[in-house]
Amino acid sequence: MTVITRFAPSPTGRLHVGNIRTALHNWMFARAQGGRFLLRIDDTDAARSEERFVDAIRSDLDWLGMTPDGEERQSARFALYETRFAALVESGHIYPAYESAQELDLKRKIQAGRGLPPIYDRAALSLTEAQRAAFERDGVAPHWRFKLDHDTPIAWTDLIRGEQHFEARTMSDPVIRRADGSWLYMLPSAIDDADMGVTHVVRGEDHVSNTALQLQMFAALGAPAPQFAHEALLTGAEGKLSKRLGSLGADHFRDVGIEPQAVRALLARIGTSDPVEPITDAAPLIATFDFARFGRAPARFDEGELAQVNARILHALPFADVADRLPEGMGETAWEAVRPNLVTLADAADWWRVIEGPVAVEPLGGDEDAAYLDQALVAAAAIDWASDPWHALTSQLKAETGRKGKALFLPLRRALTGRDHGPDMVALLPLIGRERALARLAAARAS
Ligand code: GLU
Repeated sequence: MTVITRFAPSPTGRLHVGNIRTALHNWMFARAQGGRFLLRIDDTDAARSEERFVDAIRSDLDWLGMTPDGEERQSARFALYETRFAALVESGHIYPAYESAQELDLKRKIQAGRGLPPIYDRAALSLTEAQRAAFERDGVAPHWRFKLDHDTPIAWTDLIRGEQHFEARTMSDPVIRRADGSWLYMLPSAIDDADMGVTHVVRGEDHVSNTALQLQMFAALGAPAPQFAHEALLTGAEGKLSKRLGSLGADHFRDVGIEPQAVRALLARIGTSDPVEPITDAAPLIATFDFARFGRAPARFDEGELAQVNARILHALPFADVADRLPEGMGETAWEAVRPNLVTLADAADWWRVIEGPVAVEPLGGDEDAAYLDQALVAAAAIDWASDPWHALTSQLKAETGRKGKALFLPLRRALTGRDHGPDMVALLPLIGRERALARLAAARAS
């Protein structure tokens, strides 16, 4: 059996971090199983679906390195839905209902008044031919409900949640098509999953009760049901379902300098029993992917943690992975010198400016440091720059002045880089080079 998963977003907005996580898990599982990962654009709702969001979904997946093996669009598949719908009406699995929204609302209020659950009473099923004809004559178009089978228990073994049971009797026959002919999500999705041979549906646990209904749809369609994995939802760092999560997407992460590898590494692991690690390559993440390691508790998404993972990923990224995003002229040695100090890749450009100059040097603290820099200038002119100039410079100055630690290093770092902190001077000084180093020491001395 070839595993087929699908990520099925509705193009009514940008993907948010929760969607991205679902896409990632579908992609990882397919890759782990040597299967196929499909992108299905759920665009049956023409009014709310927008082409720019379809494009954004594609480019977000691309940015994250999760290129689908195939793409389908529900809007191109209406003919198939019509055929299956007609067959299900014919076989009595779908029936027309004529109640208005107000009538349905009133029924629910009455039920609530009697302490009953708001389950649809199936009044439409008892309409006579004549009553139906009267509605049609009055121009009342029906909406359509899927008739649940009350006698067959609904059960499945969820790959994350374990044994699941639902009682069809306790659920309303779901409306699957509106009076204007438009589709609700549930039936087209089941038709597509069956038609596309989807073997595993991985989605958020907000869909658990939909699954109960869709299992009966698969049965009515005469199609084997896929397996299901419903993952616990994401919460914000503060532990609550947060509005902010709904607006955090790939565009935001890109804007604040987060690498796609960091998004992947974090979202692959939060909510699982595996630790979040700065894993750059997809392969080791995929190799450890296992639904059995997913917890039932909400997964906590913390932007601070993402920033940390991002920094650690940057510290491990090879030059080739970033070369086209580095400033002109910045080579592999410079990348390796500054890499351990980066929080985001944009910081590399700052350090490149420190290397290339000009650097602004703060005025010195006192005469003592001025005298020290005089000595440094003489020493820097004399040392051999070919191998390890920092070591040569500091050991000479240490011997001459008796300075050590901060007193030895800090005035030099300040004069040479204009900053108190930064990449290891052993790596930085050769990049700054003799000319610039001498000029900077002289300038610092004069300031
Ligand atoms: N379009 C549906 C949604 O975005 C798909 C859900 C599913 O994965 O079946 O909620």
